Amino acid sequence: MDNDLIKQLTIMKQLNNSCLSLKLFERSNISLLEEILNKDSQELERLKNLKRQGKLNFGPIVKESELEELFTSLKDEVDNFLGVLDINAPKIEYCSRFNFFRPELFNKNTCISYAIAGSFLFFPLNWLLRNNTHTSLNSFFIMSTLAFIPTCHMLNTLRYNVDHYISETNSMHLFKNSKANLLPTMGHEYAHHIQRKILFAGVHDFEKNYSIFSEGISRGVQRHVSKIFKEKEDNEAFLYEILNYNVEEMKRLYPIMCYAFGIEPQQSLLKAKNFIEKHYFENNEPNRYLANDYHAIGNSLFYVLEIKFGSSIYKDAIKGDVSFLEK
Ligand SMILES: [Zn+2]
Repeated sequence: MDNDLIKQLTIMKQLNNSCLSLKLFERSNISLLEEILNKDSQELERLKNLKRQGKLNFGPIVKESELEELFTSLKDEVDNFLGVLDINAPKIEYCSRFNFFRPELFNKNTCISYAIAGSFLFFPLNWLLRNNTHTSLNSFFIMSTLAFIPTCHMLNTLRYNVDHYISETNSMHLFKNSKANLLPTMGHEYAHHIQRKILFAGVHDFEKNYSIFSEGISRGVQRHVSKIFKEKEDNEAFLYEILNYNVEEMKRLYPIMCYAFGIEPQQSLLKAKNFIEKHYFENNEPNRYLANDYHAIGNSLFYVLEIKFGSSIYKDAIKGDVSFLEK
């Protein structure tokens, strides 16, 4: 096996979801999470007050024809931050939340599930149609059976209502938003594009096995873009969305980490509506929960690493140099 391939396989092994979950799940990270959560919660509260008073200016909704120009204003910032060159811009388009025919909704797994459900439904439906005695009960059964898959698809579409990057088509699909919210989101999705072009080119199980790494880097870029444009345009509205993400995601993880190490979480840090209660943790294995919350784990882990080692970790990580994980 040649050396490059061995190196690539070693990196991939270090970066998979289970290794990175364990990196976050260290006792020493708890105090750093508390520090971050404390600082960002206070900052968010201050911005929420400004928003309530109508003093945060998010700008008008960006038109689809303005997306490319907006991206141009952001691309160099992200390229410099990640230390990358010659990355072609992805396609950027708005998509509708109620477009049930978006190609990414028909990925391999979804199509297989629909095909299996369809074959199971075929026999009872066939029987009902053959023996149709035109009673209203029979019609009801037939209609419900026919509606089953479209209903699942509709629910799946609504569940998938987030801005996203599609590697198969090199495109970002964004939902209409104002400039102060859209620019950082664009930075997040563009970071996924860069990862796909550099570190994860040709890695097939990328979305499944490396999502903590991928979302952690993208949240770091989103945070950087928010700060840069807040300074450039002297507008704190750019910070609003990323602070919401930071606080929401860390509030989900912090109590779980505390309970795992037998530490009582600081109640003042948990004043959020949907944080997970202690009984949830006691009745569930932490890894089962942690395995699915890629944004929260990725964001918390890379935020903690950023505080420890500085923002150069993002440049190193995108090149595959993750020696900072061993420090
Ligand atoms: Zn993402």
